[in-house]
Amino acid sequence: MTQANGYVGRFAPTPSGALHAGSLLAATISWLDARAHGGQWHLRIDDIDTPRVRPGAADVILATLEDFGLTWDGPVTWQSRRGSAYQAALDTLLANDHAFPCGCTRRDVAADGHTGWEGPVYPGTCRHGLPPGRPPRAVRARAAQRHWTVGDRFLGPVAFDLEALGGDFVIRRADGIMAYQLVTVVDDLALGVTDVVRGIDLLGSTPRQLQLHAALGADAPRYAHHPVLTVPGGAKLAKGSGAEGLHGDAARAELATTLRRINLPPSDPDHPDAPPAQLAEALDRLTADPLPTRLPLTTTLATRTRTGSV
Ligand SMILES: [Zn+2]
Repeated sequence: MTQANGYVGRFAPTPSGALHAGSLLAATISWLDARAHGGQWHLRIDDIDTPRVRPGAADVILATLEDFGLTWDGPVTWQSRRGSAYQAALDTLLANDHAFPCGCTRRDVAADGHTGWEGPVYPGTCRHGLPPGRPPRAVRARAAQRHWTVGDRFLGPVAFDLEALGGDFVIRRADGIMAYQLVTVVDDLALGVTDVVRGIDLLGSTPRQLQLHAALGADAPRYAHHPVLTVPGGAKLAKGSGAEGLHGDAARAELATTLRRINLPPSDPDHPDAPPAQLAEALDRLTADPLPTRLPLTTTLATRTRTGSV
């Protein structure tokens, strides 16, 4: 597992609150995968969606990662400071006809009545030009290639139908904010990311990001999607679904719990070591059985939440 020199990974939390058990799981899996490959692990703060950003949350996340021994390489990337890079990519996509202005509201798109895997499918109204009298609102990337098969490193081959996922997708929102799909691709390219390791809730983003890499003439990274923690009912554990913020003073126990969830429990679970020693032990074990063989087969894991045990 150490032969893949040049591995560059990243962790990209949104600073909408403190790290919780779900984001710690994501950070730990992506960190372990990078370190098991002798690779770099970068930290990017996804603070571009300003309505979701909570003041001070980014600093709390950085401090918590340090408390948990999840050290990163190089400077932290702040998406809020990369507007000119996103604008340049958007201009390129528009100039090369890989993207187009869209004047449709959500209601317009929903009114077409064609529902895909993730909601209404864009009917292509503005694909060949804005209808007369309709001002531009958002910018959409063309879903030029409909079918994609991704060799996911954890899941195996996954086939996607980009049309069923919604068709042409928004890369600059009507409120002017650059959309997740675009900023992620631009940042992954800028950092030279070779391996995206993230939660399976983002699986549907992968063909969109492959489409953008292709439109920008760039090679796409490898992808690996891991199980996520869920709450009763199946929704992903998140700030809005009752996840509690983690504290550094509970780092030993919380990290031990996280490692147990991915079948890398510390050797003395009742008295777990300090985080760096726990991570070193986990890395040691990964030399025998790499991470994909450790992850639970199911795509969800139960967790304790504020609403009770499951
Ligand atoms: Zn439109």
